[in-house]
Amino acid sequence: MTGLMAGKRGLVMGVANDHSIAWGIASKLAEAGADLAFTYQGDAFGRRVKPLAEKVGSDFVIPCDVEDLASVDAVFAALGERWGKIDFLVHAIGFSDKNELKGRYADTSRDNFVRTMVISCFSFTEVARRAAAIMPDGGSLLTLTYGGASRVMPNYNVMGVAKAALESSVRYLAADFGETGIRVNALSAGPVRTLAGAGVADARLMYNFQRKNSPLKRPVGLEEVGGAGLYLLSPLSSGVTGEVHFVDSGYSIMSMPRIEELKE
Ligand code: NAD
Repeated sequence: MTGLMAGKRGLVMGVANDHSIAWGIASKLAEAGADLAFTYQGDAFGRRVKPLAEKVGSDFVIPCDVEDLASVDAVFAALGERWGKIDFLVHAIGFSDKNELKGRYADTSRDNFVRTMVISCFSFTEVARRAAAIMPDGGSLLTLTYGGASRVMPNYNVMGVAKAALESSVRYLAADFGETGIRVNALSAGPVRTLAGAGVADARLMYNFQRKNSPLKRPVGLEEVGGAGLYLLSPLSSGVTGEVHFVDSGYSIMSMPRIEELKE
């Protein structure tokens, strides 16, 4: 895949460490020759993100907390100043109070509902609008979602509702930007062991259940999610927009385990 992204520049938002899905995608983009800029949330993450960025030849690392609109504006001002334009953007950002990622969805508080929606859903719309303004030659925008958007996953609760809204916003943004050659897609990853993933109660049990009950009978690796991300951000997917692309070992197609397994 070397050379596929040569001459292309883009922003990766959401690297916390080398287990992050954003890092899996960034590694594949760098291998394919892309120039990358990174954002990080707060100094503690910054100390981890800067050496990772260096590994892929980037010194373009900018703080950004999507709850702070001034920091979002500063990111796009910096991109405009240094690069003038970009070709792609990865949004791999999600947050909800972990005290509400357990028990019943019905008990979600108003404050956490709003905060989860702003960080995990609306931030994509906000950065997509700013990114589109510096994509005169078209481009590709990608966000991360999860199967809990369309089917009930225990404990995923308000994150599932936010992901449903995020997937819907992908379709609306794809329609808004299509005429300018900007594509917008979501990648729906199977469970990956990350910081955010660990915030969902009993994540390990869900991880094991999905592994056991998916057609491929194994979890997806960061490399596989990264490869699919590269595809969605590259010209290989030039006819694809408004799509939710599953990279989940096929789990989402199943309604129940195979009959042989039920008899075990
Ligand atoms: P992660 O913890 O590595 O990444 C989450 C990122 O969100 C972190 O970098 C964090 O700094 C960032 N973030 C949270 N609040 C923010 C804010 N206010 N401003 C800026 N950044 C903020 O975990 P991950 O699993 O790689 O998560 C990336 C995306 O993938 C999320 O949208 C998550 O919902 C999604 N996803 C994860 C899984 C999984 O199993 N891990 C599966 C499907 C989808």
